[in-house]
Amino acid sequence: MQISSKLPNVGTTIFTTMSGLAKEHNAINLSQGFPDFECNPKLLELAQKNMSAGFNQYAPMPGVIQLRECIAQIISNCYNQNYNPDTEITITAGATQAIYTAIAAFINAGDEVIVFEPAYDCYIPSIELHGAKAVSSQLNPIDFSINWDDVRAKVSTKTKMILINSPHNPSGTIISAQDLLELEKIVAGKNILVLSDEVYEHMVFDGQQHQSVAKNKTLAQQSIIVSSFGKTVHTTGWKIGYVAAPKELMAEFRKVHQFLVFAVNHPFQLALADFLSEKNNYLELKNFYQAKRDLFLKLTSSSRLKPLKTAGTYFQLMSYKDISNESDTDFAIKLTKENKLATIPLSVFYTNKYDNKILRFCFAKKDETLEKAAEIINKL
Ligand code: PMP
Ligand code: GLN
Repeated sequence: MQISSKLPNVGTTIFTTMSGLAKEHNAINLSQGFPDFECNPKLLELAQKNMSAGFNQYAPMPGVIQLRECIAQIISNCYNQNYNPDTEITITAGATQAIYTAIAAFINAGDEVIVFEPAYDCYIPSIELHGAKAVSSQLNPIDFSINWDDVRAKVSTKTKMILINSPHNPSGTIISAQDLLELEKIVAGKNILVLSDEVYEHMVFDGQQHQSVAKNKTLAQQSIIVSSFGKTVHTTGWKIGYVAAPKELMAEFRKVHQFLVFAVNHPFQLALADFLSEKNNYLELKNFYQAKRDLFLKLTSSSRLKPLKTAGTYFQLMSYKDISNESDTDFAIKLTKENKLATIPLSVFYTNKYDNKILRFCFAKKDETLEKAAEIINKL
């Protein structure tokens, strides 16, 4: 049979590849972004309680109302913006599904979507699967800031969406309030949607604030916000996230959502609603991860790997320019096989495979894992 691939240039994701290699070579895995520690036992108890109480059939299509109300409360507390839980919030099977659904709902063949590179891996394939074109704007290679002149130059009559991500994976940088104003100037009054991937919203460090598009009234009217509980409560395996958007946009989003997944895991949604009604269960996350970042930086301070600045997320970039000239992919593979430490090479997040000799390390790990990783790093 002749298969005409819709994604001829796409292979298996780097996260699957590097986690597989880590396992095969018994390496410490700082590659794929997930915690190696358990979530709060209270959350597990709540999940168990809801399963035992019989919430094991389909949840409502947009998600259980308790969780949608809880999200509306979180957004109101953190960003001072009101979303109607009934019509403006939908629970998704993680952020990946949310992003795919948003693109499927609003992007037609021939449209253009502006994305920033380095870009999280699912963005461009999701755009291309809908016959649209991803128009890349390169972030500054040193500090990963957005070049707004370049964005303005790339907006065309075909531009239907701008996809932003802050805190940013893979760089760990965040956008500023000024960035939101620049974005507002570009999209205000135009038929351009903003798809804002904010899955690391509660991990912003050093007293800085997360700049959600929800904070900006004009942008919020044209934006679809995506987040993921996997990051916030250490349950990446639960694959539960959400989308917040004005009701006209949400109505279109739900038309697709209902045929893509229909509804999301019922008892776990109820558990999340209970758990997150306690504010500290998300507000404390930034301190928790800032301590992990600081520990990792301290443990590796004498290394020949040089850290870049991490303002948010659970990723730390490190340059290995002083150690080797090898390509970042070769270096990462060698590090996994020979030194038993798995990381992600940054070039995989660029269409043109731009290689600035940088690796991404995930520090969502037990302190003892970070200590073991640091021992390896310090010997390089
Ligand atoms: N966006 C970004 C920036 C991510 O890093 C991730 C996963 N870590 C996702 C989306 C996908 O989240 P989920 O696992 O909830 O699908
Ligand atoms: N988002 C995670 C990362 O950046 C990986 C998620 C996945 O494996 N799809 O590492």
